[in-house]
Amino acid sequence: MKQLENKVAIVTGGASGIGKAIVEAFLKAGAKVVVSDLNESLGHELVNADKDGRIVFIKADSSSPEDNEKIVNAAVENFGALHIAVNNAGIGGAAAIVGEYPLDSWNKVIDINLNGVFYGMHYQLPEIEKVGGSIINVASILGAVGFAQSSAYVAAKHGVVGLTKSAAWEYGTRNVRINAIGPGFISTPLINDHLDQGTQDYLASQHAMQRLGRPEEVAELTLWLASDKSSFVTGSYYPVDGGYLAK
Ligand code: NAD
Repeated sequence: MKQLENKVAIVTGGASGIGKAIVEAFLKAGAKVVVSDLNESLGHELVNADKDGRIVFIKADSSSPEDNEKIVNAAVENFGALHIAVNNAGIGGAAAIVGEYPLDSWNKVIDINLNGVFYGMHYQLPEIEKVGGSIINVASILGAVGFAQSSAYVAAKHGVVGLTKSAAWEYGTRNVRINAIGPGFISTPLINDHLDQGTQDYLASQHAMQRLGRPEEVAELTLWLASDKSSFVTGSYYPVDGGYLAK
């Protein structure tokens, strides 16, 4: 039997990068997956590549409470239950020092990267509690340490880690495990489309392994946390960072 056979999962921001690699790993492990994203064309590409009807795509904004409720309803309506949720949708935000940080960018990053995870869990938990399961919140190495000119992102990701720990305590005896992961810098459109090569090389040099990570490497950890193989793991924050935090 495959690791996620008969399981139903949500992956937010699942049309690109890390989310897409997680969707692919979950499908390979036998799960049915509701993918949500703002990017409709990439979402439809994923659905078209799936030959067995095991993906449903919902265009949804993770910073909207109503959209998060819609995603959970889609899982139950299409596949009958919800066991796993990966709250992954996120953006980078402006690069500026705190005194000059654009307020609209601060609010947008907090809305998507932190409020979005809370809204997701708020609607996912009552449904997952019925059947038992696992939530994985995608934080970052920047959920553990600071980074200049990225205050909104760093604050949101630290918030995600705190939210994860609190919720794990609330649901520890309610059959839901809740963990956060902390990817190092990973080669995805978030990095590749926004940073020049020199900056990418500098970021690579900050990892013990002297390279950026691959989305599939983050998906492997996520799959383990989603599966029963991690049955005694909750409230944890797992870096998957090529040694970045070991410095
Ligand atoms: P990405 O840009 O490749 O993918 C993010 C996806 O989220 C995109 O498909 C985008 O359309 C979607 N999205 C953005 N805002 C959304 C919203 N409001 N509602 C729904 N979907 C939305 O980026 P990625 O690198 O794969 O990032 C995924 C997650 O991993 C993010 O939370 C990011 O902060 C985190 N992360 C990334 C890195 C990295 O180096 N790439 C490192 C640590 C953590």
